[in-house]
Amino acid sequence: MNHFSFDDTIVAPATASGIAAIAVIRVSGKEAILLCNQIFKGKDLTRQASHTIHFGTIRDGDQIIDEVLVSIFKAPTSFTKEDVVEISCHGSDFIVKRILQLLLKHGARLAKPGEFTQRAFLNGQFDLTQAEAIADLISSDSEASHQAAIHQMRGGFSQQIKKLREQLIYFASLIELELDFGEEDVEFASRHDLQKLVLNIQSVTKDLIESFQLGNVIKNGVPTVIAGKPNAGKSTLLNVLFNEEKAIVSEIPGTTRDVIEDELMIEGIRFRLIDTAGLRHTTDTIEAIGVERTRQKMKQASLILYLFDSTLIDQESLEEELVDIRKLNLPLILVANKTDQLTKVKSIPSWLNSDEIIMISASEKDNIAALKNRMLAMVHAGQLKTGDTLITNVRHYESLRQTYVALDQVLGSINQNRTGDLLALDIRHALRYLGEITGEITTEDLLDTIFSKFCIGK
Ligand code: GDP
Repeated sequence: MNHFSFDDTIVAPATASGIAAIAVIRVSGKEAILLCNQIFKGKDLTRQASHTIHFGTIRDGDQIIDEVLVSIFKAPTSFTKEDVVEISCHGSDFIVKRILQLLLKHGARLAKPGEFTQRAFLNGQFDLTQAEAIADLISSDSEASHQAAIHQMRGGFSQQIKKLREQLIYFASLIELELDFGEEDVEFASRHDLQKLVLNIQSVTKDLIESFQLGNVIKNGVPTVIAGKPNAGKSTLLNVLFNEEKAIVSEIPGTTRDVIEDELMIEGIRFRLIDTAGLRHTTDTIEAIGVERTRQKMKQASLILYLFDSTLIDQESLEEELVDIRKLNLPLILVANKTDQLTKVKSIPSWLNSDEIIMISASEKDNIAALKNRMLAMVHAGQLKTGDTLITNVRHYESLRQTYVALDQVLGSINQNRTGDLLALDIRHALRYLGEITGEITTEDLLDTIFSKFCIGK
């Protein structure tokens, strides 16, 4: 599995480039301390204890490059479990480059993206899901995604998976033992107990699979569309939502031409409002955009807010407007707008008092909190009994699904009283998928794909 030559010492900047107070350069490998000692003037680094910090200068011959602090972490009590040195220098790209060049000149090699974390994983510092969580943690930008990443980094669900996998391995070996007895009709592995275990693993797997929807939402946001007829008040509502949340109104160019997304953060959950930029600047409407594009837009959504002018419409015509939208079968919130006008003229029609409808006044900023609560409730409705364990990673999701299917095969084989060798084969399949999640079973390709997504220096 180790496709790295662990003989070489790797180096990379651990902080982002640009002007900053300090920058950190990370060095890991057998020669880390020796190499740094060659360019460092101060104490003899090779004679210092682990977890100590030393002040001195980095020199290229007689030339002083910078005054630095050098931290020493000796194997195996470092992030990579190798000798690690971190050089804290002044945050100038020029200085960082000079120090890197010096280290390379003395025999270090530039690290590939994620190589520090990859070494840590290969040296048994943590399992694969935890390594992946580090990448998520670095890129987390909301309370919820941060929580999910921290939980996963601290072990999350992988302990549970490992335990179930071990139990399954035990059964597989019992069955394989039966095969050794060939002709004799022995049964070491109780089919009944095996069935119980498989059902148990399936139930755990199922909960995790189902948590992916929310996990994915937390990581990637909820694609949301605000729809409604012209003058329903869509742009007014949008402005209210953005101003209230003081949201970072970022415009992310979408993959499709002219699809622009805004983001709205409500209690740590990110709602990605699809194609709303036009709304805020013009009275661009569904009708103007055209039916086909509207449908395309809606299809990308996980949540639709349908806004209507409550002073103009009755229940029947609203349902007519909604015919196509309801066909999409997506979570839908009906928003009755302009209730300020409604109360002025007459009492509120009773059909508006429906669970499906939230009554607001966008221009008066009335009842906006209820709308936001409903949006959150729609998201959390998908949450299951997994507590805080959420699957946020597509790779885990896929492996779990394949595990579930493979376990179905095992159950089928038990029920049909298949021979031990077939049963053992089915169990091996399930074990492989389970093992892929935590990294007990890996391929070079898989590792390369995972770690190449990391940034340099991590
Ligand atoms: P859009 O075409 O759906 O984007 O609708 P707009 O947001 O442009 O609003 C259309 C008109 O309705 C504007 O004149 C708004 O000021 C007005 N409007 C929006 N919300 C309310 C509301 O809650 N009450 C009242 N009385 N007028 C509103």
